Amino acid sequence: MDTTLQDLKIQVCEANMKLKNSGLVKLTWGNVSGLTAENKIMAIKPSGVDYKELTPEKIVLTSLDGAEQYGSEMAPSSDAPTHMELYRAFPSIKGIAHTHSTYATAWAQAGAAIPCYGTTHADAFYGEVPVCDQLRQEQVESDYEVNVGKMIVAYFSNLGLDPEEKPGVLVPGHGPFSWGKDAEAAVENAIILEEVAKMACLTRGLQPCCDLLPDYILNKHFSRKHGPDSYYGQS
Ligand SMILES: [Zn+2]
Repeated sequence: MDTTLQDLKIQVCEANMKLKNSGLVKLTWGNVSGLTAENKIMAIKPSGVDYKELTPEKIVLTSLDGAEQYGSEMAPSSDAPTHMELYRAFPSIKGIAHTHSTYATAWAQAGAAIPCYGTTHADAFYGEVPVCDQLRQEQVESDYEVNVGKMIVAYFSNLGLDPEEKPGVLVPGHGPFSWGKDAEAAVENAIILEEVAKMACLTRGLQPCCDLLPDYILNKHFSRKHGPDSYYGQS
């Protein structure tokens, strides 16, 4: 097999293990995928496989339309069609993570976007973490996982949201999807998303009418880490 694809399988396997070891995933409630640089082949966790038994050989490779599968013959994660929709619509992302992590899922179940109350949040998300619209009954009964992806994409498109400024979203009544420049970055954003969801929940408990982080601090923190004028870290 192509060394690039072999490397991608190793990277995606390690990212899935990192997600599990982060404590964000109970049982098998989570999955991570990665995409080749040419945006052609997706590597994703197989469906329902215990993390203890996950190896790079079991990582499933599929074309982005799901028509072709390479290497492992295991069924891909049932959420694979959601990942494919996001990759097709957001060409800059090369990794996606999905969890049912407790605090992010609590906000999703409340149908509430996570407000930006502090710089931990502003370092990764430019403003609130959005919650997309709920699917209609017919969208759930037919092509459910495809429609979850389409709903996220439509929500970002309708509101003019940039997936690089908002590297994650809450699906109402379900949980978070996060993404990044590769599978590892998607996992990192899943960890950040859970942490800011927890902080926001605790902040509201202490001060139900808490002010949002002022825009000038939000702008400073996001822009020093992301975009053309970023300067955080080693050059
Ligand atoms: Zn789920």
